[in-house]
Amino acid sequence: MKHFTLVGNWKMHQTPDQAVRLVGRLQEKMKPHTHVTTVVCPPFVDLAAVHKVADRDLVRVGAQNLNENDEGAFTGEVSGSMLAGLAEYVIVGHSERRRYEQETDKRIALKVAAAIRNNLTPVVCIGEQLHDREDGHAQRVVVDQLHGCLSQISDEDVHKIIVTYEPVWAISSGDGRGQSATPDAVKPMITLIRQTIEEIFGEGASSRVEILYGGSANPDDAQSYLEIDHVNGLLVGGASLNYEQFAAMIDIAARLADGR
Ligand code: PEP
Repeated sequence: MKHFTLVGNWKMHQTPDQAVRLVGRLQEKMKPHTHVTTVVCPPFVDLAAVHKVADRDLVRVGAQNLNENDEGAFTGEVSGSMLAGLAEYVIVGHSERRRYEQETDKRIALKVAAAIRNNLTPVVCIGEQLHDREDGHAQRVVVDQLHGCLSQISDEDVHKIIVTYEPVWAISSGDGRGQSATPDAVKPMITLIRQTIEEIFGEGASSRVEILYGGSANPDDAQSYLEIDHVNGLLVGGASLNYEQFAAMIDIAARLADGR
């Protein structure tokens, strides 16, 4: 039986009240499904409110970022130890943070370690820019990012991470309907990511790591990504802000997990 993880990245959307309503409506639409894990990642200020109303059988809570330190003089930052009671997952290394906050692979690696240290599952994002793909460097970029971002974790901890392949050019500007990557373009990258994880952590390691796809996924194309060999789920931006669309994607994953 397959298992899928669907992670909704709400980005900088939803006040606490709106977030509570959104998760409530999503939960009303959902049925518990043991072979699909659904995670929503609201902004920090919404986490306490969402954590309170989230029914863990339906929806788990994740954060969108964390600082690599557990405490200290880092104004405006939030640590893994602070998130630990409110979230189970944390997105790390999203391309928007690489782009707007100048996050490097080295720093992302420290954040991955901080997440694991605080019992949070890091959802580590990697993916090439359009110019990398056009120049024929997409594979090298992804391999380098994997080496860089996973440099601070041990072989024993590799199963605690989720890796998301998000080609940066396929991420939408908010509506979940950008220039999506074709499943044919995604498939070899997933294979490459699994091979690289084996090279870094040893034979068998990649079978212990969930790999998701992210980039303009929506109810119309979710199935085509979930059917790619060794894809374990989706990271969903724009479409996760629409509870009907996100619930439809969860239903698709549940049907495929059941082999229907
Ligand atoms: C994302 O930002 O992680 C993402 C996948 O966004 P979208 O689905 O809107 O492309």
